Amino acid sequence: MPQPSLRLVLGDQCSASLSALEDLDPARDVVLMMEVRGECTYVPHHPQKIALILSAMRHFARALRARGVRVDHVALDDPANTHSFSGEVARAVARHKPARIVATEPGEWRVRQEMEGWEAAHGLPVEIRDDTRFLADLGFFRRWAQGKKQLRMEFFYREMRRATGFLMQGDKPEGGEWNYDAENRKPLPKGLVPPTPPRFAPDEITHEVMALVTREFPAHFGRLEGFNWPVTAAEAKRALASFITDRLPRFGDYQDALAEGEATLFHSLISTSLNIGLLLPGEVCAAAEEAYRQGRVPLNAAEGFIRQILGWREYVRGLYWFKMPGYGATNALDARRPLPGFYWTGQSGMRCMDAAIGQTRDLAYAHHIQRLMVTGNFALLAGIDPLQVQEWYLAVYADAFEWVELPNTHGMALHADGGIMASKPYAASGAYINRMGNHCGRCRYDVKRATGEGACPFNFLYWDFIARHAEDFAGNPRMAMPLNTFRKMAPEKIAAMRAEAAKFLNATSSLP
Ligand SMILES: Cc1cc2nc3c(=O)[nH]c(=O)nc-3n(C[C@H](O)[C@H](O)[C@H](O)COP(=O)(O)OP(=O)(O)OC[C@H]3O[C@@H](n4cnc5c(N)ncnc54)[C@H](O)[C@@H]3O)c2cc1C
Ligand code: SF4
Repeated sequence: MPQPSLRLVLGDQCSASLSALEDLDPARDVVLMMEVRGECTYVPHHPQKIALILSAMRHFARALRARGVRVDHVALDDPANTHSFSGEVARAVARHKPARIVATEPGEWRVRQEMEGWEAAHGLPVEIRDDTRFLADLGFFRRWAQGKKQLRMEFFYREMRRATGFLMQGDKPEGGEWNYDAENRKPLPKGLVPPTPPRFAPDEITHEVMALVTREFPAHFGRLEGFNWPVTAAEAKRALASFITDRLPRFGDYQDALAEGEATLFHSLISTSLNIGLLLPGEVCAAAEEAYRQGRVPLNAAEGFIRQILGWREYVRGLYWFKMPGYGATNALDARRPLPGFYWTGQSGMRCMDAAIGQTRDLAYAHHIQRLMVTGNFALLAGIDPLQVQEWYLAVYADAFEWVELPNTHGMALHADGGIMASKPYAASGAYINRMGNHCGRCRYDVKRATGEGACPFNFLYWDFIARHAEDFAGNPRMAMPLNTFRKMAPEKIAAMRAEAAKFLNATSSLP
């Protein structure tokens, strides 16, 4: 019997087209899938995220076996499980005596480093293949980024439009513009009720996994009941189809809206499926473009949505691998405060924050504006340590994988990378949150006040942030407006807001 190749499929690699499975010989090779505790606990991942990954893995293993593939699946509760990738690869090497190990590059720098040690550890060739499930390979990004001081997503996105042909008319962008964002900033009007996303009732495998997760990780933040994520490629396709029909037509208009009691609005909820490989970005963009070409969705919606995938998603992945390992240690604004306890309890008293954190606990989901302009904005204004913020985002969202989460946190939300990703910090006062949503009307704070009894914390924290960093941003033309306003303010007003900020921030460290 010829020696097998040991082919690895990690939890976020549940794709039939995975590069590690190319040229697989079912008669000879073994696919290794490992459920290890170390990966569930290096940050305390949300129970829904762990259940999603384990269930998707088990469904994927079943599908491979149905194709006649030999799958060696190490279960989380296997008593012999060493609970680390390296430990399980060592055991599998002893079991199967493979001629080589074939893997697809993982989504995290740390795991890639671990994989690179296996060749020496086992005296076997270890082939780490490119992850071909993205639309841009890492070389494409590197060539684009090399030598540039600023790496603006918008320009990368145009290159991607040209390279893939999505929403192009020859060499011109569809409709004449590359970007229709100016049309995409509407709050949700009264009376418009977003459609309910489809249900994916847990099957036997998911129920089993949910019981396991409840047993094994009782202390992790987040509710498992109500789990509603697609766990197979077929379910993910159904989720995409329902989004394209029901929500994409208005996705653009209300992409930036915040609304009380509306957790998902017109968003797609497909990030989990994309990130674990149940959907591929090309099929998602193609589906959105087709709906536009058939006249079922307007251009601002199709373009706005395709930009998120073809632009932002590909861009942050390129940026992550281009800038790691240093990117995770960036802290350009010297933010040092510990993460307040209310990020875990949802009891800050700030209605917008508690709504975002509460739904994160319940759904392992918050939409982009909640992540960026509510919880992210608060962390930016309050000067919270990027490492702690980053670990929080990595833990609490079902779609969080380091390659996508880290640049969004360090680069987009916290400006910790000093402006590589964003030309100015996404800092906003309560006025922005009030304009885009309806939380303020029901908040115990007054969004119109910046000092005194009941003043909205986003207001005094915003001006305290501007005061702290006025010099850092002095040369940034995009910060000229707030800096001018700041310079015209009466010194007593600034002093009062800064005192308010100091009092508030000191109190947050003693909150639960
Ligand atoms: C601080 C912070 C942390 C984030 N962490 C993650 C994360 O861990 N995982 C993750 O997938 N996204 C992350 N995002 C990006 C974005 O918020 C989510 O992709 C989105 O909310 C997922 O919900 P959706 O599928 O309904 O997205 P939609 O709003 O429907 O967007 C469609 C798709 O576009 C992609 N997309 C949109 N924005 C981005 C972006 N900024 N970066 C990369 N892809 C994007 C996603 O794949 C998403 O599914 C983060 C954003 C911020 C500000
Ligand atoms: S008043 Fe301030 S804290 Fe309250 S919901 Fe509005 S922005 Fe948030």
